[in-house]
Amino acid sequence: MWFDTSGQTVVTGLVRTDRTGPPERRFDLLVLADGFAVDRFPQFVAAYAGLRRELYATAPFGTLRGLVNLARAVSSERLVTGATLSDHRMLVLDEDAAWSVARSVDPDTDAVLVVVDSPAYAGVSGHLVAAVTCHEQAPRVALHELGHAVFGLADEYEGPGSAPGASGPGEPAAPNLSLVGDPALVKWRDLVTADGSVGCYEGADRVSTGVYRPSPRCLMRSVHDPFCPVCRMAITRTLVSFRHARPLWC
Ligand SMILES: [Zn+2]
Repeated sequence: MWFDTSGQTVVTGLVRTDRTGPPERRFDLLVLADGFAVDRFPQFVAAYAGLRRELYATAPFGTLRGLVNLARAVSSERLVTGATLSDHRMLVLDEDAAWSVARSVDPDTDAVLVVVDSPAYAGVSGHLVAAVTCHEQAPRVALHELGHAVFGLADEYEGPGSAPGASGPGEPAAPNLSLVGDPALVKWRDLVTADGSVGCYEGADRVSTGVYRPSPRCLMRSVHDPFCPVCRMAITRTLVSFRHARPLWC
C-alpha cells in the first residue's frame, strides 16, 4: 500500500490471499474497502477474513475454491453513494466508481465486492458488483448479493402482490425462478427430488403467488440457510465456466 501527497490517505493496497491459478482461467473476486479511515484498516482486514471464511464454508464454494482467486484492497475513493432506502436494508452503490477503482487495482478482476465501514444491516448488488457493510451478518448478506451480481440468481423470498407480470413477461431468466408450477415440467426438473427438497414452491421474487422457487429454504430466501440445490448448480456452472480461457477478443 502507499500514501498520497498528504501522507494521510491510503490510495490503494492490494493483498492476494488466494491465488489458485492464472486470472484468465479463474474467477477473480476483489474485495474493496470503502470509507475506512487508516486507523480502521484492522476492522476491514477482520471483515475480509470473515467474508473469506464464510465463502469457503458455504457450498458450493468450498469444493470449488480451486477456481477462485481472492484478493482485498483498500481505497480512499468514496464508492458508495447515498444512504439507506426506505426499508433500511439497501445501500446505493456507484457501480462505475467501484469498477473504475477495481480495474486500477487489478485489471483482471471479474467481480467486485465493496465493504462499507458501517455497522448497518445492508447490502446491494449490480452487474458483477455488490456491496455490504461490517454488520455481523455481512458475510451471509455478501453471499446473497453475489448470488444476484455474479450468478444471476433471483430473490426467493416473498412479498405482497402476485405474478405473472411482476417478474416481466415470459419465463424469468433467473435459474431459480419459474412461472411453471409443475415439478415435472419446470426448468429445474432434473433436480426435483421425491423428498421435496427440490420441487415447485409458490412465492418468490418478492411476490406471493404465480411465481415458483425450487426449495422451501435457500440463501436467496433467508441468509440463515444454505443455497438450495438449484442455486448451487447455477453457481457451479458459472464458476466452472471460468476454468476455460476466454478468447482474447472477448
Ligand atoms: Zn435457491
